[in-house]
Amino acid sequence: MKRRNFITNTAIGATSAATLAACNQTTTPVNHEGGSSLPEIEWRMATSWPLSLDTIYGGATTTCDRVREMTDGRFDITPYPGGEIVGGLEVFDAVQNGAVECGHSASYYYIGKNPALAFGTAVPFGLTAQQQNAWLYHGGGLEAMRKIYAEFNIINFPAGNTGAQMGGWFKREINTPEDLKGLKMRIPGLGGKVMERLGVNAQALPGGEIFVALDRGAIDAAEWVGPYDDEKLGLYKAAKFYYYPGWWEPGPTLDVFVNQEAWDKLPKEYQEILQTATYEANINMLAKYDALNRDALQTLQEEHGVQLRAYSQDILQAAQTAAFELYEENASNDATFKEVYEPWKEFRDRIYFWNSINDLSIASFIAENK
Ligand code: CA
Repeated sequence: MKRRNFITNTAIGATSAATLAACNQTTTPVNHEGGSSLPEIEWRMATSWPLSLDTIYGGATTTCDRVREMTDGRFDITPYPGGEIVGGLEVFDAVQNGAVECGHSASYYYIGKNPALAFGTAVPFGLTAQQQNAWLYHGGGLEAMRKIYAEFNIINFPAGNTGAQMGGWFKREINTPEDLKGLKMRIPGLGGKVMERLGVNAQALPGGEIFVALDRGAIDAAEWVGPYDDEKLGLYKAAKFYYYPGWWEPGPTLDVFVNQEAWDKLPKEYQEILQTATYEANINMLAKYDALNRDALQTLQEEHGVQLRAYSQDILQAAQTAAFELYEENASNDATFKEVYEPWKEFRDRIYFWNSINDLSIASFIAENK
């Protein structure tokens, strides 16, 4: 087999990569024993997730595994759990400054950099997973997000979705908006900001601290993800009432972030392969969560005595009103937020009408008459 040159990311320039690919097309025909003209490249992917969140971490491993398989090991990306290279919430900075070539994280962790990044993941009373994909891939969403990411030297690719999350664990029942007042709840992000408008004392504890805080009564309620992940944290041992829906996260998208210069240096073939792998991660994570949550919910109910409760219409109405007041305020204070929010809002209203005609009408009939 022809000896291949090992070319690091820093050594390979956009021009040389293009030249190399072009040269090899003419001078080195594809070797049917598995050899190739394409360079060997090693990247690191920082993620925001502990290994214990295997489904969400799976968005990173699916992407890396598939890229490796599709390039016969020549493009090798290694994922790292949050905290190994950089902290879980420092992935954006690490990709922006080139400390790592890529990352797997959630846009909405970085709303401090630009509030409109919330739409890249999820906003309260926003889009379901299927609608997120429609908005991102065919509704102008990805272009809108990429315009923001470009300012930070990053190109982003949707690469996972948890599906609608659950509405959290409560030590006592919550029936009216009044019952929320003064409640201490672990709920980060915009969901927390909306809850604060309803009188909740919102806290942003990391995953590893939620159980102890809830168990000892330092907080009265906590949200995490959904049945599969929540069961692993043991939250059912600390609070029995499990509320739905997680109206602050109807369909959160996770993203692969790629440093723009690192991206530009990739051969076109590797760019296509990486992009294809993120599509695969996007669909695989959602499929896996849906299948696992279905089983975990049954276990929580039947083996752990968990009591399911729906948020009342009063609470949902009050929360939705508060959420859109917040968006309108953000839009009047921030031109980028307004630029994303206004077409997003129009997309949301129309796709919910369409989905009330197709998916939701058949799903609600079957769910009630199965
Ligand atoms: Ca959550």
